[in-house]
Amino acid sequence: MPDRLLLPFGGSAPSAHQLGKAHLGGKGANLAEMAGIGLPVPPGFVIPTPLCALYYDAGGRLPDALKAKLAEGLAHIEALVGMEFGSATNPLLVSVRSGARVSMPGMMDTVLNLGLNDVTVEGLASRSANPRFAWDSYRRFIQMYSDVVLGLDHYLFEDALEIMKDDRGASLDTDLTAEDLKALVGQYQAIVLKTRGEEFPQDPLEQLEGAVAAVFGSWRSERAAVYRRLNDIPESWGTAVTVQAMVFGNMGETSATGVAFTRDPATGDRRIYGEYLINAQGEDVVAGIRTPHYLTLSAREAAGARGQSMEEAMPAVFAELAEMFERLETHYRDCQDIEFTVQEGKLWLLQTRSGKRTAKAALKMACDMVDEGLIEADEAVLRVDPAVLDQLLHPTLDPAAPRDIIAVGLPASPGAASGAIVLDSETAAERAGRGEDVILVRVETSPEDIAGMHAARGILTARGGMTSHAAVVARGMGRPCVSGAGGISIDMEARTLKIGSKSFREGEIVTLDGASGEVMLGRVATVEPELSGDFARLMGWADQHRRMKVRANAETPEDCRTAVRFGAEGVGLARTEHMFFGAERIVHVRAMILSADESGRRAALEKLLPAQRADFAEIFRIMEGRPVTIRLLDPPLHEFLPSREAEMAEVAEATGLALGAVRRRVAELHESNPMLGHRGCRLLITFPEITEMQARAIFEAALEAGGGVEPEIMVPLVATARELELVKSVIERTAAEVFAEKGKTIPYTIGTMIELPRAALRAGEIAEHAGFFSFGTNDLTQTTLGISRDDAARFLGAYVDAGIYPRDPFVSLDTDGVGELIGLAAERGRGTRAGLKLGICGEHGGDPATIQFCETQGLDYVSCSPWRVPIARLAAAQAALHKA
Ligand code: PEP
Ligand code: MG
Repeated sequence: MPDRLLLPFGGSAPSAHQLGKAHLGGKGANLAEMAGIGLPVPPGFVIPTPLCALYYDAGGRLPDALKAKLAEGLAHIEALVGMEFGSATNPLLVSVRSGARVSMPGMMDTVLNLGLNDVTVEGLASRSANPRFAWDSYRRFIQMYSDVVLGLDHYLFEDALEIMKDDRGASLDTDLTAEDLKALVGQYQAIVLKTRGEEFPQDPLEQLEGAVAAVFGSWRSERAAVYRRLNDIPESWGTAVTVQAMVFGNMGETSATGVAFTRDPATGDRRIYGEYLINAQGEDVVAGIRTPHYLTLSAREAAGARGQSMEEAMPAVFAELAEMFERLETHYRDCQDIEFTVQEGKLWLLQTRSGKRTAKAALKMACDMVDEGLIEADEAVLRVDPAVLDQLLHPTLDPAAPRDIIAVGLPASPGAASGAIVLDSETAAERAGRGEDVILVRVETSPEDIAGMHAARGILTARGGMTSHAAVVARGMGRPCVSGAGGISIDMEARTLKIGSKSFREGEIVTLDGASGEVMLGRVATVEPELSGDFARLMGWADQHRRMKVRANAETPEDCRTAVRFGAEGVGLARTEHMFFGAERIVHVRAMILSADESGRRAALEKLLPAQRADFAEIFRIMEGRPVTIRLLDPPLHEFLPSREAEMAEVAEATGLALGAVRRRVAELHESNPMLGHRGCRLLITFPEITEMQARAIFEAALEAGGGVEPEIMVPLVATARELELVKSVIERTAAEVFAEKGKTIPYTIGTMIELPRAALRAGEIAEHAGFFSFGTNDLTQTTLGISRDDAARFLGAYVDAGIYPRDPFVSLDTDGVGELIGLAAERGRGTRAGLKLGICGEHGGDPATIQFCETQGLDYVSCSPWRVPIARLAAAQAALHKA
């Protein structure tokens, strides 16, 4: 049991806010803090988050010790406001509100006007000049309490309200008289009795216990669980409950309620942004029951709206409010999102929190606040969530545009794209060649889809996860991609895409949102990215604080150029097998794989050499002396073997083999577990001629490019020191040959990927042969967890829901398990070779949480897809600042 079951705020209560948001919830901590600095906050108390776990441990019951304490909390409020809970003459009413460590807007429950019953309502009525007010509060309370605590459908009450309004010829709730509202209360109580078989609870303390329990209960509501999943909020955090004296915005024409941002959350502009309603309670504004009005005159005029702004209607209170916004911003040094109520001309603040904002607004606010002297540049760097930069780097959907969502898959590569559905790569290339925007829709993609993927504006697949081929390639290209959209199927015969019972023809227009995984029918308007101005300023500050280097995973000239444009300091992974995607090259790779003997392989490799050399030379030129890590061939066979008849025929023609022989060879080479099969260094060891060709291409290209090029050659999928030693000897022999032929040398390094648990454990020996380690966390995750990266999408969602892994371990590193291996490998590798260069090049290299982990392990660089380079730069700066 925690020491303190409730923490009062207001009056002379010692401010509890230093206990922090983890304990008090964001709302509770900020209320305590505001009360502490003398802002007008109705007094109350916070029941801290650990009680939420106790509530669940007790099977959904409030601990008795807490129940006993509630009276003490109420006494604190009563003393400050001079009212009494349950009093027949001067009743105190309270609000009971949820509040987790981070705000989860609208996801959990709240009960207002608690403490009203058939007796206290009369007391409330006797103290108010407005005869409607007490009965309006009571009918609102019965409806809210019945919905939140008793689980009754709120439509039951809304229907009764509508009938009453019709009866009385009233168009608004505010047109109903006190007598009407009193009659409505009677009807509401009858609804409760009829539906539940029990009277609406009259005991205020019983009401309070019920509401506190219901707020805890709402932590596990369906919508809260979904919100937590989408925002990576652990279930274990729980919510706090704030119980606070009610203030009333519905006490007549001098009362009001509203919400406001101290700056514009969409643009970041420094102006008050918000809405209010006269004679209303908070839920009226939030729920959109009545249309609220603007706060400021300028906003009202800009929108050409009718209805008075608060600035016009209540100028004195508005001025006071504006002054409080200044104080809050100065105190919190950030844009605040505030809820306020005006009760008969007196202003009260009910909540403040850091205002949620768009990426563009986040950058503008951070830069403006540095200029205003509110924060330092390092703090500005910490203010911007790296993940939101994604919104800025790709065209995004106009948030104001309507969306007709027809399917949802994994948000595999961000950005938005609209175009005609095409069902194969040839059609994609052909239609794109005619200037049409197309979306390539496939069950899954294979290497020869590369041209189609490139030609397409976006990619949609039925199968595959976040690290599937389609996702990795699409991210690399900056193409929006939605993968693993399980609900879709493709009928190649009819040339249709089926989603549930609906069918869409090839050529119909769809829009993908690669940031949310949504697929929409028709074209949705987009807005273009902006990379200068505030973005450039913030990235400049980030780079000053960053320790780790940021490289890109890139192997095409276009990717390399994008990487440089986004500030990459080198290439951390050039996947050479990706350089063979595309119809004219893949056929030679296939010929090589299918060759029954060395001479066949050498013939195919001869054909590949010039293309490889030219590609490497181009990369070296674009990277202008920045380090480039080239990985030797690592083709999981299932991704490269021909599967369709037409592809086999192509290989037959290129090799001069009979089609039957090709078919037989494909069958022979079939592997049950290609990810654990004949790939990586296993291929290089069994067919050293591959290493020879690739090493030759690298050295010849480097000599040709000249000018400070120092290639780093990387050996994939090593498990033992001996494997690396063998491949290394071939590379070194080839280097000596090429240098002798050309009469020139260049410096180079040979290193390895650490992507198998054995390699991590035996890193001490492996480091004897390695100039660097690069953690291939895609395979390291796959092999440590024993979860196939191609098949994980089907069940990982359920795993995350069940709290088995906090996030998809292929997206954000499993720091406890895979991370421990990385830590071990780093320590053992550096134990053998002091200063051994360490990097990460799995997809995790672009994930902010993983980057933070890499900083703690002292890695030298992270490498990620070019489009994530700015995110990685910012995340690496934040990681360094957090560590400092
Ligand atoms: C990895 O396994 O993390 C890696 C970068 O290699 P690939 O994704 O190409 O297997
Ligand atoms: Mg790998």
